[in-house]
Amino acid sequence: MDKYRLRDNFDEIVNRVERARLKISEYHIVKIVAVSKYVSSKEVRELYDLGQRAFGENRVQDLKQKMEETDDLPLEWHFIGRLQKNKINHLIDLDPFLMQSLDSLELALEIDKRLEAKGKKLNCLLQINSAKEETKAGVLPELAYDEYLKIIENTKHINLKGVMTIGAHTEDEELIKKSFETTYKIFENLKPHGAKICSMGMSNDFELAIACGSNMVRIGSLFFK
Ligand SMILES: *Cc1c(COP(=O)(O)O)cnc(C)c1O
Repeated sequence: MDKYRLRDNFDEIVNRVERARLKISEYHIVKIVAVSKYVSSKEVRELYDLGQRAFGENRVQDLKQKMEETDDLPLEWHFIGRLQKNKINHLIDLDPFLMQSLDSLELALEIDKRLEAKGKKLNCLLQINSAKEETKAGVLPELAYDEYLKIIENTKHINLKGVMTIGAHTEDEELIKKSFETTYKIFENLKPHGAKICSMGMSNDFELAIACGSNMVRIGSLFFK
């Protein structure tokens, strides 16, 4: 991908996130995670040169490869995809900054067991299936609060840092908004239990997500269009 085009896209995204967050408050900080699953380490390096530090991948194998290829850079890596049981050890060994897609107590218990054996910790977000879509992973919104507390109670090595959701898959902005509002409400209720991160918003809906309270957006295709 052309370097100058990437720079223009980067500037556009930073400016749009900046405008959206200032509408809430100058103290509302939004972290941008660049989802690099569409591109190679070359683009990751170029984004790093522009100032980008946080990157996300949705497959453990790709995460591993990109982490190895950018080993010399001080990057922060996020795992955002569905985690298969047989990949748990691989993910833990990579020491990602944040695993955003923890989607059940069962998976949490399994991860916790492996963390125990390896003497490690893992920062996670609970993924919420806020629009109740069958194709999507995540805990149903009405169960999310209890599930979050159960994970805290029943694991020793998982640090739950908040929640993540993917906005409703539709053109209907009201429905997308509703899925973000649902998630934000759960996040607010979980704040007394240590929730700090509300990760929502992607290329097509990040401004709406920020307006609904998101403090972390995961943007892929808009960087690389
Ligand atoms: C791919 C992906 C993104 C980025 O999506 P874009 O629409 O390309 O910005 C964000 N979150 C998750 C979980 C993803 O899989």
